[in-house]
Amino acid sequence: MNDRHLLEQHAITPKKSLGQNFLHDPNALEKIVEIAGLEPGATVLEIGPGTGNLTRVLAGRAARVIAVELDTRLIPLLEAATADLPGVEIVHGDILEVDIGALVGGTPYTVVANLPYYITSAILRRLLETAPRPRRLVLTVQREVAERLVAAPGDMSLLAVSVQFYGQPQIAMRLNPAAFWPRPDVDSAVVRIDVFDAPRVAVPDEKLFFRVVRAGFGQKRKQLRNSLSAGLGIPKAQVGDLLAGAGIDPQRRAETLGLEEWAALAFAVAQAG
Ligand code: SAM
Repeated sequence: MNDRHLLEQHAITPKKSLGQNFLHDPNALEKIVEIAGLEPGATVLEIGPGTGNLTRVLAGRAARVIAVELDTRLIPLLEAATADLPGVEIVHGDILEVDIGALVGGTPYTVVANLPYYITSAILRRLLETAPRPRRLVLTVQREVAERLVAAPGDMSLLAVSVQFYGQPQIAMRLNPAAFWPRPDVDSAVVRIDVFDAPRVAVPDEKLFFRVVRAGFGQKRKQLRNSLSAGLGIPKAQVGDLLAGAGIDPQRRAETLGLEEWAALAFAVAQAG
């Protein structure tokens, strides 16, 4: 039965506010699971299983699939759709609130999800900035977001720096709106992020590093001297010295900096106390 009929049967209408666009294309579902490269004993955390389309394919390739769904209306339907799959655990909750460590129980895990687009950045931050980090993430996201994640210096954003600090993102596949029901207004892409054992660059302290990066991106298209001064509450002249210490021209803008340069700047800020 397709998603539309299944939901109609349960008198459920998809909620746009929860990013409910269900992926029904069987080839796309298969490919996403292939991209995840799961080993037979794998533990998978799925965010937003919806009607269980992806969950069922995942269950065929992983030992455990922990699927966290926020929408109460979908829980009975999901439980029925996965009742014959002993490796699947349906968890009713908000992915931004649940205790991921307690759910995965100390085993390495992979995240595979067709994300609710309205909270993509918050989910990425939660998964990458708090332990235990997944080994890999395979995420369907809005195509523009996918392109932002893999950006190079010149087009960097706070999101790109954060993701590339923890892992290597790559766009693995593009998806047409027709692969979903209801059709989203935007194009989608599948991103694979291979998470490093340790961050890409050494930093004095991760909190300070992100404070500096956030300050740098705090004022759109402003020169670093100005955005850092405002964001860190340091006089411009001192910011100029810090940037010089890190070998960075104070007239550059945040989007032009690479990870090594942000790290050098964080060290300069740490040294200055
Ligand atoms: N995985 C399904 C598929 O591919 O057909 C559904 C994907 S749909 C784009 C996103 C799903 O995330 C919806 O089922 C929605 O209810 C769920 N969702 C939205 N916000 C959530 C949250 N904060 N925590 C967990 N699930 C959420």
